[in-house]
Amino acid sequence: MKKKILVTGGAGFIGSHLCERLLNEGNEVACLDNYFTGQKRNIIHLLDNPYFELIRHDITMPYFIEVDEIYNLACPASPIYYQYNPIKTIKTSVSGAINMLGLAKRIKAKVLQASTSEVYGDPEIHPQPESYWGHVNPIGTRACYDEGKRCAESLFVNYHKQNNVRIKIIRIFNTYGPKMHPNDGRVVSNFIVQALKGEDITIYGDGKQTRSFQYVDDLIEGMIKLMNTGEDFTGPVNVGNPDEFTMLELAQKVKELTGTKSKIVYQPLPADDPMQRKPDITLAKKVLNWEPKINLEEGLIKTIEYFKSIV
Ligand code: NAD
Ligand code: UDP
Repeated sequence: MKKKILVTGGAGFIGSHLCERLLNEGNEVACLDNYFTGQKRNIIHLLDNPYFELIRHDITMPYFIEVDEIYNLACPASPIYYQYNPIKTIKTSVSGAINMLGLAKRIKAKVLQASTSEVYGDPEIHPQPESYWGHVNPIGTRACYDEGKRCAESLFVNYHKQNNVRIKIIRIFNTYGPKMHPNDGRVVSNFIVQALKGEDITIYGDGKQTRSFQYVDDLIEGMIKLMNTGEDFTGPVNVGNPDEFTMLELAQKVKELTGTKSKIVYQPLPADDPMQRKPDITLAKKVLNWEPKINLEEGLIKTIEYFKSIV
């Protein structure tokens, strides 16, 4: 059945993949974005589709539309951009969540929150299950994002309990793929762009910190499956790839796959940078019948092809 769906942050990296997939499944999609980190280039190919609508709007301000489902993705995700204007980042997460939940309540839509593994902060438990409360510095440089997302989760849970709003919370772990902005600042896009330009590959710290990288198609599959779960399941649920790599291993892999002559250089580690991160995906396997299918090498090859076409 054709659904009307609102995707906030739809012109961003993940949002643009989601809009495309929802349209391909025969839905009507409204893409809302203020273009802070998103780009029209990501969704320009969808503009000819009569079931696609583009809305320039900032979710810190209320917005009204009639839809069946809302995917709330609007929020800068790269540390450089979310730290550029920390107060605005908090407003986007918190006021944005209030506006989208208020809308969902009024029009009786189902609403999914793009939360993050950052709610676990610099974790003391490894891998991280949903039951872990996290280890976040509330006054650190990453707090505007981490605490904003934690408060948004709390708002979602309370709109559900108090007002019966149908909610879903997904905790997304590091995701990469085509359509990341070349200057986004996150590690996968940085390393690939540096390698393709023959520039130094910048490792922050000693490169022993770990992340678990998920290819974007796997995430989109998990996100849609979560939206379609039964009424009683709200999450939060981790969606990520449990294969864990150090940043040094990632840099070496990018060097090998691009064949670059770039040198690896070391720069200072940013404050509060988590030392390790890996999702426990037991719950996603059980409830969503989901697990990632694309390994790091396959995903990097596809992503390198994309950056070759634009760099
Ligand atoms: P992105 O920066 O590419 O996309 C975010 C989009 O939101 C952009 O198009 C931006 O212009 C838009 N936006 C920002 N503030 C807005 C506002 N106030 N009003 C309207 N639009 C606004 O980032 P992404 O990687 O696509 O992330 C999408 C969502 O997924 C974010 O909520 C992020 O926190 C979450 N997430 C991403 C990752 C990841 O690894 N990519 C991991 C965890 C969570
Ligand atoms: N990082 C790095 N070089 C870069 C960009 C990032 O070594 O050019 C490191 C960063 O310090 C962190 C890891 O890579 O330890 C992942 O960073 P990213 O910003 O992609 O995601 P997050 O820290 O939010 O997980």
